[in-house]
Amino acid sequence: MSEVRPVVVPFRGLRPAPSATRPRDERPGIGGVTPGELGAWFTERGEPAYRTRQVLDAAWRGREVAFAEILTLPAALRTDLDAAFRFDTVVESEVRITDGGLTEKALHRLSDGLLVESVLMHYPARDGSRERHTLCISSQAGCAVGCPFCATGELGMERDLETAEITDQVRSAARRLAADGRHLTNVVFMGMGEPLLNLDRVLEAIAALNDRQRFGLGARHITVSTSGVVPGIRRLTGLGPQFTLAISLHAARNPLRDVLVPLNRRWPVEEVVAAAREHGQATGRRVTYEVVMIEGINDTDLDADALAVLLHGEHAHVNLIPMNQVAHTPWTGTPIPAVERFATRLHAAGIQTTIRFNRGTEIGAACGQLAAEHAGQPTPIVVRRRRERLVSESAAALRGERSHEPVPAGVGEG
Ligand code: SF4
Repeated sequence: MSEVRPVVVPFRGLRPAPSATRPRDERPGIGGVTPGELGAWFTERGEPAYRTRQVLDAAWRGREVAFAEILTLPAALRTDLDAAFRFDTVVESEVRITDGGLTEKALHRLSDGLLVESVLMHYPARDGSRERHTLCISSQAGCAVGCPFCATGELGMERDLETAEITDQVRSAARRLAADGRHLTNVVFMGMGEPLLNLDRVLEAIAALNDRQRFGLGARHITVSTSGVVPGIRRLTGLGPQFTLAISLHAARNPLRDVLVPLNRRWPVEEVVAAAREHGQATGRRVTYEVVMIEGINDTDLDADALAVLLHGEHAHVNLIPMNQVAHTPWTGTPIPAVERFATRLHAAGIQTTIRFNRGTEIGAACGQLAAEHAGQPTPIVVRRRRERLVSESAAALRGERSHEPVPAGVGEG
């Protein structure tokens, strides 16, 4: 693998997101414009069809960072393009590098000041496999689901991302890689937000990534993760693309999952697994189940056995990930020996299982952690109440009691 030398935008101290204090730039981002829309725009101006190709090549494959740099276009046309579209919806980025250069965490500021994150992970070639460069991207600024172990959940929901605000995370990483002659091999929708609660924009972003005229990434190299929005999973299944579905499961028992993934109060775990099974059968793709391991909460033998029963006979793979420490929770990640014991129990039950590690823990690779750092700290009393509530809710869940808390606002309809 070549030396990792990403282009680093100097960190000038991105300040807290001044949500809704700055109007959003209304010009569509070029990363969300289809070839047909761009072609129609040029036709209206009497420009030849090849202009579309020139702009798309620059936007998706070039080194240019502004319309003004596309020197194959007449100067007046560059000015017109800039008046109609944004070349990049990311106003500025901060990139932090860790894991000996194997992980790059980027914090992107959008036109209205909100911050979203993406994480680029490099996997060197090994055992005959090629090197991979996987980008984890955000689909929303904040998240309404409110999983208590997640830094984004702590932030709450700000807004859905536009299509270009999603794809521009990819274009930004691809440019950094191209500077070293490398290219992005995989994209996972596993950053900030619940992708299936912004599904129209996510599908447009996937279409752009998949489109040979734009990014040209094979559907099999794209993974969409969900915490269990059942109508969204069914809609994906109906569309039939061959991308991989990942379910953020975290617990197989409903009382505990009600606490860890509040969406479970609307769509219980059996419904989620049934919808995921239909997706796997329709696409022929194995479904991945993610379990963030929290010490003393969801890592017991009882939890392993419940998971084995839930996934018995499924075409599935389980990833166990020790929880990253997130501020303001009373919990810590499961120690590795206990994760291994859990994995052994699943293996013995015939469930394919891998232990994975969060990349870049020292720079806050848990999704939303960098943005949370910039969003300011809650008061000590808010933190204390939150911790007390989680302790009491998880204790009730471990006794098998279902939560009576309402479904988080805005997530019930899917
Ligand atoms: S884990 Fe995912 S779904 Fe849950 S709060 Fe965080 S971003 Fe939202």
